[in-house]
Amino acid sequence: MPLASRLPAPPETMAVLEETYSGVLRRDPGEAEFHQAVHEVLECLGPVLAARPGLATAKLVERVIEPERQIMFRVPWEDDNGEIHVNRGFRVEYNGALGPYKGGLRFHPTVNLGIVKFLGFEQIFKNALTGLGIGGGKGGSDFDPHGRSDAEVMRFCQSFMTELQRHVGEHTDVPAGDIGVGAREIGYLFGQYRRVTNRWEAGMLTGKGMLWGGSAVRTEATGYGNVMFTAEMLRRRGEDLDGQQIVVSGSGNVAIYTIEKAQQLGANVITVSDSGGYVVDEKGIDLDLLKQVKEVDRGRVSDYADLRGASARFVAGGRVWDVPADIALPSATQNELDAEAAAVLVRNGVKAVSEGANMPTTPDAVHILQDAGVAFGPGKAANAGGVAVSALEMQQNASRASWPFSQVEEELSAIMTSIHDTCYETAERYGASGDYVVGANIAGFERVADAMLAQGLI
Ligand code: GLU
Repeated sequence: MPLASRLPAPPETMAVLEETYSGVLRRDPGEAEFHQAVHEVLECLGPVLAARPGLATAKLVERVIEPERQIMFRVPWEDDNGEIHVNRGFRVEYNGALGPYKGGLRFHPTVNLGIVKFLGFEQIFKNALTGLGIGGGKGGSDFDPHGRSDAEVMRFCQSFMTELQRHVGEHTDVPAGDIGVGAREIGYLFGQYRRVTNRWEAGMLTGKGMLWGGSAVRTEATGYGNVMFTAEMLRRRGEDLDGQQIVVSGSGNVAIYTIEKAQQLGANVITVSDSGGYVVDEKGIDLDLLKQVKEVDRGRVSDYADLRGASARFVAGGRVWDVPADIALPSATQNELDAEAAAVLVRNGVKAVSEGANMPTTPDAVHILQDAGVAFGPGKAANAGGVAVSALEMQQNASRASWPFSQVEEELSAIMTSIHDTCYETAERYGASGDYVVGANIAGFERVADAMLAQGLI
């Protein structure tokens, strides 16, 4: 895909960015999601390099694109029947200019180096936008926890951490959860780290349980934060969430707490989904039932529909974007909302789309939404609440404190407002009023670039 600048930029600057992008395609073949994530950022940087030629001379863009360190390792483990499995583990320590590498671990069969690099690259700018002193990193494995017993998941996590422990630490690299890694996995990972290192080092992992160093609101933070960000986008347009009809995709941690906060603010959320299809619930999603099905029984959204009764309908294989709504909050996974889906949403009068997942909207879909005047919140800004509360968890660990729920929620709300305002004002400054993609990419990049410049040739 050629690089089309989102903003007016001199051709010689665009030529430099083109060359950088060609280098990525040449050196990292086959990493489609990574190419997509880099492409989106480069399309925004033309005017920044034009205004600050020193950044181009210092090869700041090339340096930001190249991870500081990439670790890949073998994860052997034994299942309940005594059969041996060999998975692959990853940790990409992408950029440490602003603080220790920080970002989640994803356990999903689709995980490969390109996926981890796309997530790590996004994480650099996301973390910079929080203003909380955290670098960017990401990791995971192609292990599939679905259908595995607790004992199998524990043995896998122990094997994974036996290797990962030599690379991470509270001042080095601080993992957390992502798809397939929740409270259960974080517990097993933390336990093995402590056992192997003989250190109570609470700040080496976030998303911990409340009894052993976790923070209030961390479980809720990504979903809550995305709804707070959406509310800010609406506020700029003189609207709020009260009475809005919302479609949410996914049914994991992000989706569940997106629904919770949206309902608290008076919205009506009518869908959830998983890889089998989606549920439309005309009365609004019954959150207690959804939590029971997903978090306790580890079931499917079709089970939710079976238990809910007449108001809910399960559509096998379909996508929530076909359901008319005022607001869409994609909260499942990358590239789940494509151009066709965006066109349907626009036709049905959607006002705002905000990304709870990482890169769920394809580039074509983003253009369709923005061209139609839809408020679009990119994940690296809108879903930064999760990692922001992770940083608050690290602060609490460092001072051996535990803050009450209300305090952390207030801080989260202030951080999301500040991220929103930073993106909005940066876009205005570059003549792209209301374009949060431009605002997030430029503001995130400038923070990291300035820190790197100050630290010499790193
Ligand atoms: N995986 C989450 C994200 O995509 C959270 C990372 C963290 O808390 O470190 O931002």
